[in-house]
Amino acid sequence: MTEKKLPLASSTLIDFAKRNGTPFHIYDGIAIRKNAENMLSAFSWSDGFINYFAVKALPNVNILRLLASAGFGADCSSLPELLLAKEAGLSGEKIMFTSNDTADEEFRAAYEIGAVLNLDDITHIDHVIRSCGKLPELISFRYNPGSERTGNAIIGNPVEAKYGVPHRDIIKCYEIARDNGVKRFMLHTMVASNELEEDYIVETARMLFSLVAEIHDKTGIKIERIDLGGGIGIPYRPEDTAISFDHLSKRIHELYEEMIEKKNLAPLKLSFECGRCITGPYGYLVSKVRHVTHKYKDYVGLDATMADLMRPAMYGAYHHITVLGKEDVLHDHIYDVTGSLCENNDKFAVDRALPEIDEGDYIVIHDTGAHGHSMGFNYNAKLRHAEYLILDDGIYRIRRDETYEDYIRTMLSTPEKITDR
Ligand SMILES: *Cc1c(COP(=O)(O)O)cnc(C)c1O
Repeated sequence: MTEKKLPLASSTLIDFAKRNGTPFHIYDGIAIRKNAENMLSAFSWSDGFINYFAVKALPNVNILRLLASAGFGADCSSLPELLLAKEAGLSGEKIMFTSNDTADEEFRAAYEIGAVLNLDDITHIDHVIRSCGKLPELISFRYNPGSERTGNAIIGNPVEAKYGVPHRDIIKCYEIARDNGVKRFMLHTMVASNELEEDYIVETARMLFSLVAEIHDKTGIKIERIDLGGGIGIPYRPEDTAISFDHLSKRIHELYEEMIEKKNLAPLKLSFECGRCITGPYGYLVSKVRHVTHKYKDYVGLDATMADLMRPAMYGAYHHITVLGKEDVLHDHIYDVTGSLCENNDKFAVDRALPEIDEGDYIVIHDTGAHGHSMGFNYNAKLRHAEYLILDDGIYRIRRDETYEDYIRTMLSTPEKITDR
């Protein structure tokens, strides 16, 4: 069970919303920092442990700075994400560059920044050599275990997944890398998304520990660091329970002693690249009720849309909803909670039991701190909304509302002739 808390008193949030307008995402920076520190301290037995925060989860430079100051790195997969990480003060091996259908220019930019290149396929080796002149001193490969693992709903079955090097190529990848002058080696995988089963993450560690041993046996190559990927879930539903970093770490430590230390494969550094479980629970989408309508069903229409939070429409994901000021009122009404897009799946909740809602009520949609604002888009010419950050000494605006001028910035009102027909 997980208590669904608010980041500020209900009345403070209503006041803030009235004064600054809705909708907006607000992040609890104090809780995010504490959470990051808890993760690092849970894994402090592991020398050199790091979490490369997955930038795509919450790509705001202020968040990246906050996490960098707590000791985190960044996991990037595009040039703009790399530039954001750099802007946040990160550089070199604090940045992981996980590619899949990556452009050569992006490989080159990551190489120049000194980021760890994490290659998705054996054929990418040649692309890196061509675009960067040679392979870097340190390289990582992303492993796809295929039918050895089952995967989960969001990331899909590994056999069907477009990501990663299959088992039949993985040994060859390290040999080719070594033959091309690579001196240091990392191994990466990402087989889970929003996973709340601790066993699944522990099994991922077991899988990589055993692959580290296999690579060593077959090639003599000693892997210096493994990256267990992201994918640690969060309790979106009140009846869900979060994974405990302390407990997870303890179990991975036991495996490490048995599979790495006893087999003389130590030291092997560990890392994750979690996004969701770092910031997800500490973000809130605050929105105002525009209309309450009674059709064949009862609808609560908000000023936010799926352009502010796509997960419910995209995955049917549950996001908890609190009606501010009505926390203790009986939840005896059933509503669909909707946005204003011309898309019938623009719904934050379907058949949700809530207190009776009136026009003008303020509501909070929970757990929007990861894969929330970042998945936003401009369909229906919806403009993206502001983000705020709560810190010890106050609340900061860390992104302003998009304006019409922002929206049309790339549009050419006077057509630019490119060529004769
Ligand atoms: C999305 C992604 C992550 C982060 O996943 P979370 O579910 O946010 O922890 C990490 N690594 C890679 C390669 C990803 O694609």
